[in-house]
Amino acid sequence: MKGKSLRTREPLIFEKSSEGAVGFQLPALDVPQVDPEQTWDSELVRGEIEELPEVTEVEVVRHFHRLSQWNYSVDEGLYPLGSCTMKYNPRINEELARLPGFTQVHPLQPEGQVQGALQLMWELEQALLAVTGMARVTLQPAAGAHGELTGMLMIRKALQDRGEARRRVLIPDSAHGTNPASAVFAGFQVVELASTAAGTLDLAALQRELDGGDVAALMITVPNTLGVFEPQIAQAAAMLHEKGAFLYMDGANLNAFVGKASPGKMGADALHINLHKTFSTPHGGGGPGAGPVAVSSLLEPYLPVPVVEKREGRLILDYQRPKTIGKVRSFYGNFGVLVRALAYICSLGRNGLVAMAEAAVLNANYLRKALQEHYHLAFDSPSLHEVVFDDSWQKPYGVSNMDIAKRLLDYGFHAPTVSFPLVVHGALMIEPTDSESLTELEAFAEAMRAIAREAQEQPELLKTAPHTTPVRRLDEVRAARKPVLRWQREQGEG
Ligand SMILES: *Cc1c(COP(=O)(O)O)cnc(C)c1O
Repeated sequence: MKGKSLRTREPLIFEKSSEGAVGFQLPALDVPQVDPEQTWDSELVRGEIEELPEVTEVEVVRHFHRLSQWNYSVDEGLYPLGSCTMKYNPRINEELARLPGFTQVHPLQPEGQVQGALQLMWELEQALLAVTGMARVTLQPAAGAHGELTGMLMIRKALQDRGEARRRVLIPDSAHGTNPASAVFAGFQVVELASTAAGTLDLAALQRELDGGDVAALMITVPNTLGVFEPQIAQAAAMLHEKGAFLYMDGANLNAFVGKASPGKMGADALHINLHKTFSTPHGGGGPGAGPVAVSSLLEPYLPVPVVEKREGRLILDYQRPKTIGKVRSFYGNFGVLVRALAYICSLGRNGLVAMAEAAVLNANYLRKALQEHYHLAFDSPSLHEVVFDDSWQKPYGVSNMDIAKRLLDYGFHAPTVSFPLVVHGALMIEPTDSESLTELEAFAEAMRAIAREAQEQPELLKTAPHTTPVRRLDEVRAARKPVLRWQREQGEG
């Protein structure tokens, strides 16, 4: 359990400053000193740096070390943030991504000198083609949402090529939140499709919208954000193709079915894959990631440039693609993430990847079973890699999903995703990932069961949680609306 000490506040480094404190002192100069004012344009020379904290070396080290311990990370324990796939990142990936042969290449080096880097990109593409059953892949997009935008721009260009200006993109209410944003960014207009009572795509609603005309594509999240597999994708694909529309598949959570089901066979025209999730790269705090997009042969001509090609036994970067949408990122994408993904794929192998997907699904279902008598299951449909509960059984005691999430921090776990997906009121979305052992799953389930009991017996305890963290509940609205990003000495201070 966290909260090892009673120290509840770490002052800002500015507040630790005491006049004359020095971290490290260089020996006196034994060469003639230059006067900076004489050497550079004096306007550019800064004299004193105002308010620079004066602190000793040990103060600096302890300050940042303490702050680092207040973070929660995948390396500390189960991190059940639904849809985010916060799995363990094997250290071998890091070793390989740091090999000088990869870190020291320059993106503008001639192809002949970087055959190894190109080979890595080529092999990663082949691996992604094998698991998706698609025609080609671009590795360029920097994250999942960026992949969505790239895919939708390709669809727009393909439609333009046919002389069509279709505007509408259909998105089920169980889609990931980034999907509508990406469609709008790519110049489309979003039409929401209500799900069936089972939480899946409503084919009748799809047909109605298709009959209404002007549909460019359907963007479908697989498995959807309820953790439910869509059983009718092939049918939906046929209906879309019949009307000349495209099927965009959000495959960010490929970890649920990699090696088990093939998006290509289901009829997807484009899908993005989150390498940082399924194929393991540390990805908290917004980066870095990689969101390759796999496309059908129909969309292949529109891929961003460059594309790695094999010509006479050599690998080249092909920019000569007249129908390309252009570049979506500088150079070739987040190369370090590509190295990690291929390392992960190679170290697991084909059977290992399948076992990984099975473990991800098994772990989610273990928690589903362990908790379904204590928390209300939002949907009855069998779940894949994540499970969505809601707070309707705790509501009568005045306890919300947020209170449950906050109380979990006292038990030493990261909170699950709350209030998403939007189709579930008071949602608690739990994704344990494949990395967790039975012991860790049980410890988490035990904490959740204890919280369910507390909700009935001592609801105040939950409403005022967390009790053991350095900071308690923050005013999130104020933090977003009126952020204080820079320390300033208050009147009368110091
Ligand atoms: C995480 C996720 C995304 C967005 O990916 P980013 O890399 O965060 O941009 C999109 N769709 C689904 C289903 C996701 O889980």
